[in-house]
Order: sequence, then structure tokens, then C-alpha cells
Amino acid sequence: MDYYSSRISNLIEQLSKLPSIGNKTAQRLAFHIVNMPKEQAESLAGAIVDARENIRYCSECCTLTDGDICPICASAKRDHRTIMVVENSRDLAAYEKTGKYDGVYHVLHGAISPMLGIGPADIRLKELMIRLEKDVDEVIIATNSSLEGETTAMYISKLIKPTGIKVTRIASGVPVGGDLEYIDEVTLLRALEGRTEL
Ligand code: ZN
Repeated sequence: MDYYSSRISNLIEQLSKLPSIGNKTAQRLAFHIVNMPKEQAESLAGAIVDARENIRYCSECCTLTDGDICPICASAKRDHRTIMVVENSRDLAAYEKTGKYDGVYHVLHGAISPMLGIGPADIRLKELMIRLEKDVDEVIIATNSSLEGETTAMYISKLIKPTGIKVTRIASGVPVGGDLEYIDEVTLLRALEGRTEL
């Protein structure tokens, strides 16, 4: 790292802190950035700071948004009595891309994992339970089919059952361990349509 000026070293170090960016990629990106037109580098830096400062969690569904409430929760066209529970905002985006789901969402920001020490209090479950005090007909659990996703689904269904609200789980057409965001729309829709009551 000493071969570079301290400014480049610093940029490489900052970039290598990003997920799945190793040292080699960080170096490649750093040199790409310093060779960019100045305005482009400025707008990249500006977009990072702006996103970090202005993006927050929707006070209703906890997805990332730039207002108090996200456009989906704010929409009168959506069925607010059907809530789909997903692990993260990327999974929400995957279902939105299908254009066929008209309910609302709840984003957990993670899944229960005893192995990683992530418990129910570490994900946005409390917020979900508060929402269920309003009129809700169905909660669709669309967590991933990984061990963590299944553990989370079981936990949530046990929590909701006593309330009498219908709890369903998306069909397991989704490959085991598969992240929802990488699954094509047809498979996602089939999983949604084939959901079963827990
Ligand atoms: Zn929302």
C-alpha cells in the first residue's frame, strides 16, 4: 500500500470496506475514480452523502425511503390489509418488479440466526406486531428459504397465530438457500400464488 500516495491509499482503504470489494477491486475502483472527470467524481461522492443523510426507514413498513412514509404505504391503491413480510428492501423490490402484488410489505432487515447471534429483537418484528393491531386480513411470510429464513417464518407464525390473523408462507418453488432477489419473476409469482396457510 506504501507504493501509492496517502490519498490514493486512503481511497483504496475506504472502498475495500464495502461488501464483496477485495483489495484488488478496491485498487481498480480507486484508479478508475481518480481518472474520472471531476464532475462525475463529485456527483458520485455527493450521491453517497445525500443517500446516507436523507434515506430513512418508512415509519410503517420499515423499508428504506426518503420520506416519513414510503410510496407503497402512502398509496390508496394498495391493499393495506395484506402484509408481505420480507427480509430486506431488495426482496421488496423483487416482488414489486412482478407488478402483480397489490398488498403492502413489512421489511425485517434481517432474519433470525441463532448461529450469528441474531435474535427476534434484532430484526423489525416489534414494528410488525404493532401494525397487526390494526385491521389486517393476511400476513404472507416471504422470508428466504434458507435456514435463517425458515426459522424466522416459524417464529413469526407462532407469534401471529394467537391473534387470529391468517398467516401464509410462500411456496417452496424458491430454491433452498436462494436469495429472493436473484429469482426470476415467474418463480416469485408462482411462489406467491402457491402460498399455504401456516
Ligand atoms: Zn412503507
